[in-house]
Amino acid sequence: MADPLLRVTDLQKSFGGLTATDHASFTVETGTITGLIGPNGAGKSTLFNLISGFLAPDAGTVQIAGRDLTGAAPAEVAAAGCIRTFQTPRPLAGMTVREALLIGRQQQVGEAPVALFRMPAAVTATERENIDAVETIASEFAIDHLLDAPATDLSGGQLKLVELARAMLARPRLLLLDEPVAGVNPTLRNTLAAHIERLHAEGVTCCIIEHDMEFIMRLADPIIVLDRGRVLMEGTPAAVRSDPRVIDAYLGGG
Ligand code: ADP
Ligand code: MG
Repeated sequence: MADPLLRVTDLQKSFGGLTATDHASFTVETGTITGLIGPNGAGKSTLFNLISGFLAPDAGTVQIAGRDLTGAAPAEVAAAGCIRTFQTPRPLAGMTVREALLIGRQQQVGEAPVALFRMPAAVTATERENIDAVETIASEFAIDHLLDAPATDLSGGQLKLVELARAMLARPRLLLLDEPVAGVNPTLRNTLAAHIERLHAEGVTCCIIEHDMEFIMRLADPIIVLDRGRVLMEGTPAAVRSDPRVIDAYLGGG
């Protein structure tokens, strides 16, 4: 059998005396939209931080497409095809949407100062490509009319759309989305769901943390339930919905 796209084994992370990730093990199979749910404070975002290199685990391993990326830097994880979005989109003060999207392009030649002197033609060609890629992605996500707007003028929902578009500029195989519709109005929530379904149909494997049960049950299969840093269960939306342990975790937990 082929390796799963993501395999997390016995992952551990504590903050002082608090165990945020407790022997967590699960896989995300290629081609799935895998949901990751659990009460507030269950350790969902911490897991994404551990996988994407924003935090180093105390123990356990992270493998992407069979490659060990435990403790790797975010850029290395991104280069392996795994891109994440943030629960709270990062502030983009002083930037237009176009500039905010340009950040999504990985490995920009012009970032290495020496390249500016040694190969100005290559820099110009790459910059042109990046600008073109931003315009293409903006039209795919129907946000082209926002490109010249200050990023600070966007609504919460529009910011989530820009985050998703920006993640796609890196051409990921595996997208980790942390609460992509939190605080988003119902219309934009449907738009985001449709975009995620489109990306999935185009071959992107997704792992989605989401609090909105209707949203996650509609999009994801399987769904992994996390409680107090541990994997409580994994199953189809129907199995998760009717599992008494899941109901207990939500009533008793955060
Ligand atoms: P979730 O995303 O499921 O709501 P988190 O992963 O954000 O949960 O947090 C899990 C637990 O770890 C929480 O109790 C949270 O307060 C704690 N935590 C998360 N990140 C940090 C950090 N950088 N420092 C200290 N505690 C943290
Ligand atoms: Mg979270």
